[in-house]
Amino acid sequence: DSQPLDGQVAIVTGASSGIGAATAEALAEAGASVAVAARREERLAAVAERIEADGGEALVVPTDVTEESDVEHLIETTTAELGGLDVLVNNAGVMLLEAVADADTDDWRQMVEVNLLGPMTAMQTALPIMQESGGGHIVNVSSVAGRQATATASGYNATKFGINGFTEAFRQEVTDHGVRTTLIEPGLVDTELQEHIPDEELQAETEEWVASLEALTPEDIARSIRFAVTQPAHVSVNELMIRPTQQE
Ligand code: NDP
Repeated sequence: DSQPLDGQVAIVTGASSGIGAATAEALAEAGASVAVAARREERLAAVAERIEADGGEALVVPTDVTEESDVEHLIETTTAELGGLDVLVNNAGVMLLEAVADADTDDWRQMVEVNLLGPMTAMQTALPIMQESGGGHIVNVSSVAGRQATATASGYNATKFGINGFTEAFRQEVTDHGVRTTLIEPGLVDTELQEHIPDEELQAETEEWVASLEALTPEDIARSIRFAVTQPAHVSVNELMIRPTQQE
């Protein structure tokens, strides 16, 4: 059976868990060869094994997106080994909720480096490759937090508002190069994201919130990403916000 992404190559960052793992599997199922990137190599290997067991092709590339050289290596290795680069999903992210008064500035720095500078570097590195091949698709996993600011999410809000602005400016620069951009803005998704919140009270509150409603699953978001990247080449789905029906 032919699939919409047959012959295409995708990179998914943060593919070791949550939305990234589900997206890697969804894009592989749609026919793409997928490079899976994150720091936890064993988790990446497990995702790659599932893709290969379903008849797909996967490449494990251990990557820390806060290291520019890792990001460049990821893009160059994928292009060389899988034979091109059509779809880049910048999904790796951290959400270190803290009130401004209590925030550790190292947590701010980490969020900026993972959620904002990582994707910026990846887009700059991927651009010439996509231009040369006549097109490509950048998908950035932002958040409802990139549109709505909330107390205690200030640092996280800064990175997600930031990636939204960067993506729109980039979009305008590349309209003549066949390069499409999509911002994915999920509401509450049940993943490991909450586990890294440094403030214990805020972590407990977030976990209570997850338990209080029917949260989205990583697969719910993966379907939206699949939708965006399987449109005809002249259609650029620039922004999708997806919330749990019960989320205020
Ligand atoms: P997870 O914690 O399950 O996934 C986060 C991923 O990011 C992991 O694969 C992790 O891999 C990776 N990551 C973190 N730091 C780095 C780093 N320095 N280098 C490379 N990879 C890194 O959470 P989600 O699946 O929920 O998060 C995915 C994206 O979705 C994030 O951008 C998040 O902001 C966004 N989002 C999530 C929402 C939710 O409610 N869950 C809502 C809105 C947006 P590893 O640790 O192995 O490196």
